[in-house]
Amino acid sequence: MKILLDECLPRRLKPESVYSTSFSRKGITVAIPRTAYHTEQTLIKAIPRLAKSASACRVAVAYCGREAYKFFPETPAERPEDLRIIVDASDRTVRLGLTNPAGVKHLLGLTAQVKTLADLHAKVFIFDQRAALVGSTNMSAASINQYQMGLETWDSKVVRQLLAWFDNELWKKKQAEPVNSETVRRLMRLSPPRDFVPTIPKAKAKLPWKGEAPQPAPVASDFTIAVTKLELNQLLADFKTNECRYRKDGKSCSETARETEERYGRLGRHFHSLWRRRASWRKKDLEQLFEIAYINGRAAQIRKPQFVRQGPRKVARSLGFLLEGPGDPYIRFEKVLAKGSSYKLSGMGKVGIICLMHLWKPKEFALVDEPVDNALKALVNFGRTISLLEGQGFKDRTAAVSQIAKLTGLKTFGRVDHFLDAIGKGHIGPRLRRTHPR
Ligand SMILES: [Zn+2]
Repeated sequence: MKILLDECLPRRLKPESVYSTSFSRKGITVAIPRTAYHTEQTLIKAIPRLAKSASACRVAVAYCGREAYKFFPETPAERPEDLRIIVDASDRTVRLGLTNPAGVKHLLGLTAQVKTLADLHAKVFIFDQRAALVGSTNMSAASINQYQMGLETWDSKVVRQLLAWFDNELWKKKQAEPVNSETVRRLMRLSPPRDFVPTIPKAKAKLPWKGEAPQPAPVASDFTIAVTKLELNQLLADFKTNECRYRKDGKSCSETARETEERYGRLGRHFHSLWRRRASWRKKDLEQLFEIAYINGRAAQIRKPQFVRQGPRKVARSLGFLLEGPGDPYIRFEKVLAKGSSYKLSGMGKVGIICLMHLWKPKEFALVDEPVDNALKALVNFGRTISLLEGQGFKDRTAAVSQIAKLTGLKTFGRVDHFLDAIGKGHIGPRLRRTHPR
């Protein structure tokens, strides 16, 4: 018995101890299975620690409280881009106050991959194929004020078995249903009144998270339009008949929008063909890439040498991750921007990366810059503040641009871009304000 324990456990069984899992000798790496235990106090530190270095994380936890998102790293670039969460958000658990729909909503801010499975009672976190946490703790503030116990294992055989269980037995189950903002809205109506949910006595452990809570992308019903229908029609009429301030031939903003869209189309095709031959990229290809991303930004050109210096392999790897990687594109976006990230694209700022993402998938990612932002502020109310965080802000704005596209009938993001730019830069709009004083 003693031998078994010595084999399985770190020498000093200490919760949240830092320990190595492998050693190298003569070029051969030997993995040592290690296990440690966690109380409620240490588990909440172990999850972000393991999540930081993982690109995929699978979570199966029965109940989800209002602050469930606080179990994950606050910095978006530190979150796994492929995050799958399954909880019991059935009508019954919501009615009983065990799972809080507001908490589920914030989980949707962390990842679009959230499912619900009635009668789920597991509490498991799996990080890549490397480590897992199995225990008794639900994702709620109440849970970490109870006495909990969990095991952290680095035994690759066990982790692989847990992974297979999650992927094949839980996630694929017919009864496991995807959750979205609509589901959350329906569940909100089932939620018990606040005073029904037992209040938490003085906290023993604290969930670390200081800033804003993550939010799912707003859906149509979250927006209200800040201008009247008459004003919007006036804007669209001006758009078609005015003289665009960007040109000297007297053509309208609408004409400019059409040409902009075509230009982006050409740029997109150029970008895609450049991407296809990435294996043979040289310095001049990187220069072209930078030109594509910053076609309108002369000021940004001063960063071009820094971008080109990185070397084609490094750039291709980071771009491959950004464009074709798994999971949430907005988290991948954060990782390509983040200091110290292995995917960091030096010299390529936020605006350039957004442009490349738009050119890559023009129907999925909007172009957002300052004039567009100002126009959005004038046109729509989000029902909450637009996030100051990079990825969340990009996601919020893309959803808003998509609403404007539907509302104006301008359809494509490329065309809407100049409509918003025209409002932001005052090509259209000022006249409207004079004729319709508010
Ligand atoms: Zn214009």
